[in-house]
Amino acid sequence: MEAALHARDKVGVQDFVLLEDFKSVTAFVENLKKRFQENLIYTYIGPVLISVNPYKSINIYNDSVIETYRNVNFYELPPHIYAVSDAAYRAMRREFHDQCVLISGESGSGKTEASKKILHYIATCNHQESNEIDRVKDRLLQSNPILEAFGNAKTNRNDNSSRFGKYMDVQFDFKGTPVGGVILNYLLEKSRVVKQATGERNFHIFYQLVEGASPEMRNALGISDDVTKYHYLNQGIQAADPSTINDKEDFATVCQALKTCDFSAEDQKDLFSVVAFVLLHGELTFNEDKENNATIALESLSAISNLVECEDSQLASALTNKSIMAEGVKVTSPLNLEQASYARDAFAKGVYERLFGWLVNKINRSLAKEKQQTKTRVLGLLDIYGFEIFDTNSFEQFCINYCNEKLQQLFITLTLKSEQDEYLNEGIEWEPVQYFNNKIICDLVDSKPTGIISILDEECLRPGATSDETFLEKLSSRLGGHPHFLSHASADVADRKNIKRHEFQLLHYAGEVTYSTEGFLDKNNDLLYRDLKELMLSTKNPITKQCFPDTELKNMKRPDTAGTQFKISLGQLMDILLSKQPSYIRCIKPNDNKQSNVFVNQIVRHQVKYLGLMENLRVRRAGFAYRRHYDNFLHRYKSLCPETWPFYKGPTKDGVSALCRHLQYTEEDYKMGRSKIFIRFPRVLFATEDALQLR
Ligand code: ADP
Ligand code: MG
Repeated sequence: MEAALHARDKVGVQDFVLLEDFKSVTAFVENLKKRFQENLIYTYIGPVLISVNPYKSINIYNDSVIETYRNVNFYELPPHIYAVSDAAYRAMRREFHDQCVLISGESGSGKTEASKKILHYIATCNHQESNEIDRVKDRLLQSNPILEAFGNAKTNRNDNSSRFGKYMDVQFDFKGTPVGGVILNYLLEKSRVVKQATGERNFHIFYQLVEGASPEMRNALGISDDVTKYHYLNQGIQAADPSTINDKEDFATVCQALKTCDFSAEDQKDLFSVVAFVLLHGELTFNEDKENNATIALESLSAISNLVECEDSQLASALTNKSIMAEGVKVTSPLNLEQASYARDAFAKGVYERLFGWLVNKINRSLAKEKQQTKTRVLGLLDIYGFEIFDTNSFEQFCINYCNEKLQQLFITLTLKSEQDEYLNEGIEWEPVQYFNNKIICDLVDSKPTGIISILDEECLRPGATSDETFLEKLSSRLGGHPHFLSHASADVADRKNIKRHEFQLLHYAGEVTYSTEGFLDKNNDLLYRDLKELMLSTKNPITKQCFPDTELKNMKRPDTAGTQFKISLGQLMDILLSKQPSYIRCIKPNDNKQSNVFVNQIVRHQVKYLGLMENLRVRRAGFAYRRHYDNFLHRYKSLCPETWPFYKGPTKDGVSALCRHLQYTEEDYKMGRSKIFIRFPRVLFATEDALQLR
């Protein structure tokens, strides 16, 4: 800290609380830039870590750096992701409190890389020679390449963009050794399976399989070695960019990782068969018969049906018919050309989505701790999609941005608000800091029955002719007056120019986003025809069979819509996170072109603003660097004062007072609250900690 004070001209300040002009965004961005130019990509706001993506490899992640950060006080070394990892890990061990690290930022800002660095750090904690433990650590680390192969894709913003949200709990035993883990996944962007924007790709695994499979394997799966041939793979780009992606090599890595995570040769065969099954659906086209009904254009479906072991004729029939249960009676009607293409794509997406779910479950089984080991504490890692604003924003962006509103809400609850509340509760003087509370936007989306998701569900479930248009009409009439909602119908003439007739606009905490309602009902309904489900139930491939359980067919109740399911799982995630002590990593990308050494002020400034970093700093600066309950504090430092050591019987608060007097804390240094001591400057705490070490 002291060193940083002296060196600040050259490399900026390493903690924004030391920034003189702490209310200016310009000064904030300037400080980040100064440091970025010196390859110092990390900076603190108190305990929050800001990370700027360098887009180049910097030699700060090796084992010796790991050892440097281990067991060292947070503020004593330059900011680093290892410092955050170590602090969370030690807090978990020392205070018996579950931890979570929340990583946020735009697509391409470095979230996933950050989560991998943390996982790597904690996997190397508490070295113990044991095969069992090595096995767990390997699996924790190796689950990444698998999930990335199936859940990541090249987008225009990031060559390895996570297209799903991920929360991972790492479980530790009482010695602090990792013994297991659980992964929760959120909303895979399955539309990518059948359609990709210009410059983008499908999920990596498809290309890896086509490029990387051995001739025998390709033969067995009935696939070629040419990715450009496949409709589901060639819409965005013709081939992989070899400079950043090597599908063939990556395939070998994935196969090795699968092995580590307990996937038998048989499992792998079944798994890749399903991937090929999905891929080959993109090659299926339809003809029209005299009655305008769709028929399969291919002579034989056996190449496809063999992959999951079902009857050709049943597959053909399921792709060209739809059945519904009407009062217990099954009524089947043929599909026309357009409906059949639609059903085929919906099927491919549905199978892939369920395959991904199966994969996560299977990995979880391999990460499950052995029975005899008792889990005592947990450290969670959240790596979830950042705010997205595209040229056209659809249901997916709506869900993703809603998720970011919830996380911002959590951030506010846990840091800004709790900071103020704590001062109030503790009876410590406090100047309120104004901040924007985004709860109003969360409510706009998810409150019942007036929020957007409820209105969408209502339109999906309402009998009669409902459409994206009727949905938008309903939104406009019910939410027209809401300060964060605009549509063509509800806007003033002056505001209309930006909003087309099929769009609505939300004023998110991060800025305004215009959503196209096209496809909202359909994506929210997320229906697969019964015929396809029945077909999958009949397959002999154990994965497809498990992915489509017969309970689903028997269940007469309509399943929750996609929007409601997402809302429920986000709610559960919030509960998990609220029960833990959070650490924050806020990732920023320095430019939009994945370039190293390029720092564009305007782009960074926007992210600083919408990540709420200025508010975060204002609150932090107004407060104290460190606070602890009296009993914790006394317990740790009582040996430094003759009045509290070796015996102390009085009230803990008085003990802490005596301790502070003895340590010669000045009035400026600290304040005594109702239940906690507040220390204003980190250096005061360091000195105390050092005194303890010297004893
Ligand atoms: P996000 O998950 O936020 O979308 P990623 O973590 O996938 O972004 O990062 C995108 C790319 O940026 C990575 O593939 C990598 O090339 C680069 N990158 C991210 N973080 C770092 C880092 N700490 N050091 C070097 N390169 C990085
Ligand atoms: Mg990512």
